[in-house]
Amino acid sequence: MSLVKYKAKRNFSSTPEPEGKVKKKATKLTFVVQRHKASHLHYDFRLELDGVLKSWAVPKGPSLNPKDKRLAMMVEDHPYDYKDFKGVIPEGYGAGTVEIWDKGYYTDIENSDAETARKNLKAGLKSGNLKFTLHGKKLKGEFALVKLKPRDGEKGNSWLLIKHKDEHAVSKAYDSENETPANSPINKWLSKNKIPKKKNSPGRSKQTVTK
Ligand code: MN
Repeated sequence: MSLVKYKAKRNFSSTPEPEGKVKKKATKLTFVVQRHKASHLHYDFRLELDGVLKSWAVPKGPSLNPKDKRLAMMVEDHPYDYKDFKGVIPEGYGAGTVEIWDKGYYTDIENSDAETARKNLKAGLKSGNLKFTLHGKKLKGEFALVKLKPRDGEKGNSWLLIKHKDEHAVSKAYDSENETPANSPINKWLSKNKIPKKKNSPGRSKQTVTK
């Protein structure tokens, strides 16, 4: 596994993001979900495998409702140390704020020993049907990442993140934004940086306040 793409996109003399190395073998595999306010607010879903973090950008965030199929765009591998990264990325690639939304460890769905799990997960990743069990604070139970067949001209990096039906699944609408504390760094920033309402703009009453 290589971090060439990750490194090529970043200037480590200006970003606080970890330059990172490939990690030696782990006993437990880590996952992390980071909430990232860049040009768009999105979530970054990362699974440790082979010493790096396999990474997907999930625009709508993960869901515990099995009916939701959340688009997940695979992006470049990130270094293992990125699992702890939160803070402000200055101007440049990914500029904005990163906060940790959920974190924990994960296994394959058979809960195999580490070596077997690694084999199963790698096979799943390769075949475009990756099943795993998350042990996080918010995200728990079985999930799948299913790769979409690329249409002409597409890069083939589109996947769907889907919750499996189990005791951790919910049937009501799930919005990861509602699971984010109001005082999270990004939410504080958002409340301070609301787009100012235009004065005298026609058709808008004073009462029109958007969230
Ligand atoms: Mn991101």
